[in-house]
Amino acid sequence: MKKFKQKNVISRLFVDMGKYKKRFWAVFAVIVVIKLCLATAPKVISIITDTMQEFVTSGNFDFGKLLIQCSLLAVLYLIGYGADGFINRSLVFISQKLSLNLRNKAGHKLNRLTIQYSDNHPLGDIQSRVTTDMLNLSNGIESTLPSLLGQAVLMAAIAIMMFFTNIRLALIYIIAMPVTFIGLRIIAKRTNKVFRNTNKHLGKMNALVSDTYSNHTAVKAYSRVDEKEQEFDELNREFEKLFVRSRFTSGFMRPFSDLMAKISYIFLCLTGGFLMIKGNLTLGEFTAFLFYGNMIGVPISELSVAFNNFQDSLSSASRIYEFLDEDEEPEETPKQTLSLNEIKGKVAFENVKFGYTPDKTLMENVSFTANPGNTMAIVGPSGAGKTTLINLLMRFYDIQGGKIKLDDIDIKELSKHNLRNAFGMVLQETWIFDGTIAENIAFGKPDATREEVIKAAKLAYCDSFIERLTNGYDTYISNENSALSAGEKQLLSIARAIIANPKVLILDEATSQVDTKTEEVITKAMQDMMKGRTSFIIAHRLYTIRNADKIIFMKDGDIKEVGSHEELLEKQGYYAQMYASGISAE
Ligand code: ADP
Repeated sequence: MKKFKQKNVISRLFVDMGKYKKRFWAVFAVIVVIKLCLATAPKVISIITDTMQEFVTSGNFDFGKLLIQCSLLAVLYLIGYGADGFINRSLVFISQKLSLNLRNKAGHKLNRLTIQYSDNHPLGDIQSRVTTDMLNLSNGIESTLPSLLGQAVLMAAIAIMMFFTNIRLALIYIIAMPVTFIGLRIIAKRTNKVFRNTNKHLGKMNALVSDTYSNHTAVKAYSRVDEKEQEFDELNREFEKLFVRSRFTSGFMRPFSDLMAKISYIFLCLTGGFLMIKGNLTLGEFTAFLFYGNMIGVPISELSVAFNNFQDSLSSASRIYEFLDEDEEPEETPKQTLSLNEIKGKVAFENVKFGYTPDKTLMENVSFTANPGNTMAIVGPSGAGKTTLINLLMRFYDIQGGKIKLDDIDIKELSKHNLRNAFGMVLQETWIFDGTIAENIAFGKPDATREEVIKAAKLAYCDSFIERLTNGYDTYISNENSALSAGEKQLLSIARAIIANPKVLILDEATSQVDTKTEEVITKAMQDMMKGRTSFIIAHRLYTIRNADKIIFMKDGDIKEVGSHEELLEKQGYYAQMYASGISAE
C-alpha cells in the first residue's frame, strides 16, 4: 500500500468536505467570536476591579457605572458559552457528510480495484480501513476538533488580550508558550508514530480474524488450530504492547503542559507583585492576569490532549486515503466493440509474453488458436499456470508482449466490460451472493425474467433441488450460510453462465469436492452447455482431455505443448509422458 503523507491529509479532507466547507468556515468564525468574548471577559473584570478600587479610595459609589460594566461582562459570558450547541451540531453534521462522501468513495473503490490488488491484500485490512478508521475519523471531527480549534483560538485571543493589558507580563507567556509547544510537538511526533503502528496492527488482527473465520473448516481440517491460535496470540500481545506504549507516550502531554502553565503562573505572581509595588501595574490589571494565567492553563493542556487525539484521527484518515488512492482498473476508450450476438468465439494467442512481476517472466512466445466451437482442455500440474491463462483471457492481467485476439480483434481494443461479457465462467470456487436463488442465477443477466431463470436452472439440472427447498427459487442463500452443497452451488453457477449465453466458456472441472453422482450431473450440464461454444476447460479427467479438440499442456507457468490428443502422443513430449504414466491432469 502506498504511504500517504500526513501533511496532505488536511487539505484532502477539505476537498472531500465539498460544499460543506463553507459551513465549516462559518463554524470557525463563530468559534473565533465566542473565544474572543471569553478572552475579553477578564479585561472587563480588571476594569470592574479598578472601578471598585476607585470607589473605595474616592468614597463615591456610582451604581450605574458598575451595572453597565457588569452587564457587559454578562453579555460576553452569554455569547461565550451560549453558542457551543451550534458548534457541536454543525460539526456532527459536517463530519457525517464527510464520512458519507468517503464511504461512498470507498464503496466505489472496492469495485474498481485491480485484480492484482485484491489478489495481494487481505480482506480484514480493507475492512478495518473502511469501517474502524472511518469511525475514528468522524469521532475526531465531532469530538476532538471543537476542542482543538476552540482552545487554539482561545489561546491566541488570550495572548492578544494580555498584550493589550500589560506587555511585560504578557512576555512571560510569550516565552513559555513556544517552549510548551516545542515540548508537546516532540511528544506528539513520537505518539503519532506509535498510533500509526497501533492502527496498522489492528488491521493485521482484523485480517487474521476474517481469514481464520472464513477458512474455518480448512483450519480445522488441516489441524492448523494451534498454529492460528499462536499467530493470533502473538499479534494480540504485540497489539497490547503497542497500545500501552501509545497511551504511555501520549500520557506525558497533559502533565507537561500543566507544569509549564503553573511555572508561568509563579513567574507571573513574582513579576506582577514587583510591578505593582513599583506602580507600573494596577490591581485590576494584576487581577486580569491572574484570570488569564488560570484560563491559559486549560487551553494548553486541553489542546495537547485534543492534538493527540486528532493525530490519531488523522492517521486513520491517511489510512483511508492510502486505500482510496490505490490503482484502479484504468478507464478505457475502446477502439472497437463486439456485438454479443455476433461473436463467433475464435480465440487466438499470438506470441504472448507475461509475468506477474516485470522481473519474472512466466510465459514467453505463447501461440495457439481456438476455432469457434472448439473445446480446449488446459492440463498441467498445480502451479503450472492454468489460472494465469484464464486471467489473461479475461484481461484480469495485461500481457507484456504479443496479442490475444477474440474474433481476430486484439482484446486490448475492446473494453473489459465488452470482453468479459463474451465469456462465461464456472469455477470450482463458486461465487454465491447474499440474495435469493433466482437473484443468484439472474446475476448472469440482470434483466432476466422468472421464465428465463427457470429455463436456465432446468438446463443446468438445478430445478429438482431448487424445488425441494421450502421457498423454491425465493430461498435466501449466502456464501457463508446456505443450505446448498458444493455440487449444487456449482450447478447454480452453471445456470448463471447459461442464462448469460456467452460465446466463450471457461470451465473448471470438479475434482474431489462432490460425490460421483453429482459429478456426473455437473459433467453432463457442462457438456450440454459447451455445445456450439468455444470452451476452455481446466480438465482433470482423461475422458474430457481425450475428447477435446486441442490440449494445452502447461508447466512452470508456461505453455509447453498445444495439439490434439493424437498429435501430442505422437510428439512424445510432456503430455505423452503424463498419459503414459496414467496419471490424470493434476
Ligand atoms: P495453476 O492454476 O495451474 O495451479 P497458477 O496460474 O495459479 O497455476 O500459477 C502459475 C504461477 O504463477 C505460480 O508459480 C504462481 O505462484 C504464480 N502466480 C499465480 N498468481 C499470482 C499472482 N497474483 N502474483 C504473482 N504470482 C502469481
